[in-house]
Amino acid sequence: MATPDGTAASATVKAANEAARAALPFDDTQDFEDARRGFIGRLDPCVVRAADGRVVWDNESYRAFLQGEAPATVNPSLWRQSQLNTIDGLFEVVPGIYQVRGLDLSNISFIEGQTGVIVIDPLISSETAAAALALYREHRGDRPVVAVVYTHTHVDHFGGVKGVTSQEDVDAGRCAVIAPDGFMEHAIAENVYAGTAMTRRAAYMFGAALPRGPEGHVGAGLAQTNSTGTVSVIAPTDLITATGETRTVDGVVMEFQLTPGTEAPAEMNLLLPGFDALCMAENATHTLHNILTLRGAVVRDPRIWARYITEAIGLFGDRMDVVFASHHWPTWGRERAIRFLSEQRDLYAYLHDQTLRMLNQGLTGSEIAEAITMPPALEAAWHARGYYGSVSHNTKAIYQRYMGWYDGNPAHLWEHTPEERAKRYVAAMGGPGAVLRLGREAIDTGDFRWAAEVLSHLVFAEPDRPDAKALLADALEQLGFGAENGTWRSAYLAGAHELRHGSFGTPVSVSPDMMRALSPEQIFDAIAIRVNGPRGWGEHLSIGIDLTDAGEAYRLELRNGVLVHWAAPADGADVILRMPGAALVGLLAGQMDGVSVEGDPTVLGRLMTVLDAPDPDFAIVTP
Ligand SMILES: [Zn+2]
Repeated sequence: MATPDGTAASATVKAANEAARAALPFDDTQDFEDARRGFIGRLDPCVVRAADGRVVWDNESYRAFLQGEAPATVNPSLWRQSQLNTIDGLFEVVPGIYQVRGLDLSNISFIEGQTGVIVIDPLISSETAAAALALYREHRGDRPVVAVVYTHTHVDHFGGVKGVTSQEDVDAGRCAVIAPDGFMEHAIAENVYAGTAMTRRAAYMFGAALPRGPEGHVGAGLAQTNSTGTVSVIAPTDLITATGETRTVDGVVMEFQLTPGTEAPAEMNLLLPGFDALCMAENATHTLHNILTLRGAVVRDPRIWARYITEAIGLFGDRMDVVFASHHWPTWGRERAIRFLSEQRDLYAYLHDQTLRMLNQGLTGSEIAEAITMPPALEAAWHARGYYGSVSHNTKAIYQRYMGWYDGNPAHLWEHTPEERAKRYVAAMGGPGAVLRLGREAIDTGDFRWAAEVLSHLVFAEPDRPDAKALLADALEQLGFGAENGTWRSAYLAGAHELRHGSFGTPVSVSPDMMRALSPEQIFDAIAIRVNGPRGWGEHLSIGIDLTDAGEAYRLELRNGVLVHWAAPADGADVILRMPGAALVGLLAGQMDGVSVEGDPTVLGRLMTVLDAPDPDFAIVTP
């Protein structure tokens, strides 16, 4: 039974968590050995603050309670993964290669050259990256950073770059920045179009507002959580455009394998032949990763992902004795490393092929998610379990990749909206009192999935009922307590939290570096997706943009509620804005610094009146 204040695990969840404890190989403690191997020193306490004193990273808040056996409110498999993820410090991978782990969502790796050091993946925030570099230097000497490698386009792999080098050092040629082809376009694009909605949903997925503890946030599975410092970016100076390309920096040879379309649209693995070490970026980690992350994204391709891991084994398998990545701990020994890579590959290939097999037998996404069974050897391999991705949501994602949102059943082709369906369902079930009874019965029998469904209908039909919200929160909370997946747990508990306490809001932090990196087309797109269509129906206006320093010019035209843009001379538009390229991004915030205006200045005001602001706090568990 859920207690009214909702902090106890129900008998059903307790039993399920105990069954997981009995079924999984907890006596296999190799991961703990590997996560501690090569320990050199740690930041004590493992807390990082911004210049203004604000805490941007606090691993002690997790270490304080992630001790001993899992409590009834946490799935023991997730508890174990979180214990592993809280092991922080500077570690030797092999002599000359070091990693700081547990200082952000990702790992930062240091490769020592003749005089300097190469950084692979400088974390999310400048503050945590600087703290990691300081920890490294404390133990390994004051080596200059001679190169930074971004393995891929996700912010946890580049955002802290200004904590380890500077734009000046890069411009002066003292530090190279090496990245896969297409890096800047993809790194920035993901934040332009659906950025606000992804950020709001990421707050659910990472449980950012949840208290940390056995009844709250215990970890994201991929690592503990995101740091919240200053996100920076420095554009690459050297792009890797083909597999097999090599670079030698400060005596360190790096051999690259491009893996576009795997975990990120632009990503690459690299072999360090001088160290017999292979860096797998985020393509092989100690979790089943996401084919489609819960925050929302374009669906990834598990077929290509598996193929690139096969290629990596073929290219590098006989030239490496350790494999490490930008999340989790390394795997030592060629045989173990190849088994790890092979199992990771089999995982994505199996999910892909089995989903397609069943899809071609007529099963839909949610049916495949229930029907699929994983091979026993992968079930028993800790690194293949679903702490970040899950078998359930990944199979639905693969269905979505091939078939889209429609399951083919015309009864589902034109359903009512959630609110309209909710009103009808509540009436059909006999009214609010009957739905509450159904919900309570479902909770009492441990069918929390059904409880969540019927009670969510009631909340959407009658959002002001505290009893409905409280009961739905209880059901979601039990689902969270039972979840092996860190992001599922956070999503369930975040939903329960908002039902009980109201919206926790989603802090929107805009990185000036990321804004400056927007291309003119991305800026115009960002404006266009804010046009309120109906408000703009009656407007017809044109704007010429002349980027005086770049020698580029664009035409924007608003008509039929659509703002389109194309490269064209600015002359002839209703209004012409002449400015240096750097001033363009200011237009997003309505700033006109450095902009000269010719023609009809009222045009800009007319455009502004049809623009909507995105809502960073939109409702999720309520209508
Ligand atoms: Zn990452």
